[in-house]
Amino acid sequence: MRRRPVRRRDFLAGLGAGLGAGLAFPKLALGTTRTPDVVIVGAGAAGIFAARALARRGIGFVLLEAKSRIGGRAFTESESFGTPFDHGCSFLHQADRNPWRPLAVEAGYSLLRHGAGETVFVGDRRATDAELEGYGAAWQRTNQALRRAGAARLDIPAAEAIETRTGWSQVCENWIGPMSFAADFEDFSTADWWAGEATEPNDMIAEGFGALVAEVGASLPVDLETPVSAIDWSGPGVKVGTPRGILEARAAIVTVSTGVLQADAIRFAPSLPPATRDAIGHLPMGLLGKIALGFAPGTRFDIPANDWVTYLTRSREAVFFLAWPFEADVMVGFCGGRFGWDLTRAGEAAAVDFGLGELTKLIGADARKRFVRGRFTQWGRDPHMRGAYAHEAPGHHGARTALMTPVGDRIWFAGEAVAGGYAMTCGGAAMSGRTVADRVAATLGL
Ligand SMILES: Cc1cc2nc3c(=O)[nH]c(=O)nc-3n(C[C@H](O)[C@H](O)[C@H](O)COP(=O)(O)OP(=O)(O)OC[C@H]3O[C@@H](n4cnc5c(N)ncnc54)[C@H](O)[C@@H]3O)c2cc1C
Repeated sequence: MRRRPVRRRDFLAGLGAGLGAGLAFPKLALGTTRTPDVVIVGAGAAGIFAARALARRGIGFVLLEAKSRIGGRAFTESESFGTPFDHGCSFLHQADRNPWRPLAVEAGYSLLRHGAGETVFVGDRRATDAELEGYGAAWQRTNQALRRAGAARLDIPAAEAIETRTGWSQVCENWIGPMSFAADFEDFSTADWWAGEATEPNDMIAEGFGALVAEVGASLPVDLETPVSAIDWSGPGVKVGTPRGILEARAAIVTVSTGVLQADAIRFAPSLPPATRDAIGHLPMGLLGKIALGFAPGTRFDIPANDWVTYLTRSREAVFFLAWPFEADVMVGFCGGRFGWDLTRAGEAAAVDFGLGELTKLIGADARKRFVRGRFTQWGRDPHMRGAYAHEAPGHHGARTALMTPVGDRIWFAGEAVAGGYAMTCGGAAMSGRTVADRVAATLGL
C-alpha cells in the first residue's frame, strides 16, 4: 500500500451462563465462570491496542482471536523468500504520528524512511524526460480533480470526478485506486478519499511490520483459535459465544473486518440496529494483493533497491512493484481492486504468472531466467478477513462515523474501518482500538 493483567484460559473451561435469545450455543462443559469487564474480539492491531489500553487502566479483559496467531492483517513470514515478507501492511504511514513507530524504535527495529524513488518504463525501455513530465502532469490533474470534488463535499464515485484523461491517467488511477484504496475509481467515494489524512512520511521496517505487531502483542493474554460466533446483548451486558464456551462481560469491543461482519460470521441477538447494519453494508472490503517474485541472489535489473517500478499502461490489469526492499532479492508487486479480486479467484499460480509476465515485458527474458519463486497473498480468500480493508461506497459517506456509534453502550466497533482520517491503515487501526478502549472505560465508569 502506498499513498495509508488478565488470566485467560480458565474462562474457556466453560461458562454455563445461559443461552441468549435465539442463539444456539454449543453445550459446554461447566467449569469456573470468569467475568471480565470487556471482551475484545480479534487480536489484530486494534485488538492489541485496545487490550494494552485496558491493561494500563487495570481493567479486566479477555482477548479472543479466531486464528492460531495474532496480528491479523499485519503478518510477516520469512519462509517464502528467506527474508521477511509482509503479506499485509509494510509501510508505517504518517510515520511522525504512527503509534507503532515509537514501539519499533524502543524494540530496536531497523526503520527506513521511504522516499518516492520510481523507475518508470514505457514498454521495455525507461521513460524519457518528456514522458516523465507527462506522467507528472497526469498525477497533478488526477489529484486536482479528486481534491476539487472532495473540497466541494461531493460523495460520488472517484471516476466521475475525472474530466480529462491522458495517456498516463490510468497509471495514476491504478496507484490511487486499486493499489492504495484497494478499489477501482468507480467503487470508492471522493468524500472518503478527501477525509483521509496524507500518508507521508512512510517508514519501512526491515524485520517486517507484522513481526513488530506480533512482538508488541506477545505480552498480552490471548485466546487463540477461538472464533466468536455470536454476541447476545439482550441483557445488561454481553454474552459472547465461541465454540469453546460462552463468556459474559459488561461490554464487547469488536475489531473484526467489515467483511467478516457482512458475512454474518458473528450473529448478534437482538439484531444490530438498522443504522449500524447500514453502515456495515456500506463499508465493503477492497482487495489489495501482493505478487511477490523472488530472484536469484544479486539480481537487480539495474533498478535501485526500494524504488517503485511503474509502467505506462491503459489497463487496470496492472501490477506495480517495490524493487528489492532492504536489498532482498524480491520484487513485491501490488495489484488490487476488481482485478485483484479476479486474480484471487484465479489462484496463486495464475497471479504469479501474471506478475512475472508483466515484469518480463519491462525487463526482457532475463526476468524469467532469474526467477526463483513467487507468492500471491490470500486476503480475499481468508474467512477471517474477506479482503484487504474497507472503503465507503459512493453516496454513503458517513458510514465509518456511523459504525463508531456504540450499540446499547455495550458493543463497540474498532479497527481500520472506523479509524477516521487514518482509516485503512495499521496505525489507524491501533489508534482506533486505543480510543475505543478509553471510551469504554469512561462509559463503564472504570
Ligand atoms: C495487502 C495489504 C497491504 C497493506 N498495506 C498496509 C501498509 O503498508 N500500511 C498500513 O498502515 N496498512 C496497510 N494495510 C492495512 C492494515 O494491514 C490493516 O488496516 C490493519 O492491519 C487492520 O487491523 P485491524 O485490527 O483493524 O483488523 P485485523 O488485522 O483484521 O484484526 C482483526 C482480527 O480479528 C480476527 N477475527 C476475525 N473474525 C473473528 C471472529 N469471529 N472471532 C475472533 N476473531 C476474529 C482476525 O483473525 C484478525 O486477527 C494493508 C493491508 C493489506 C491486506
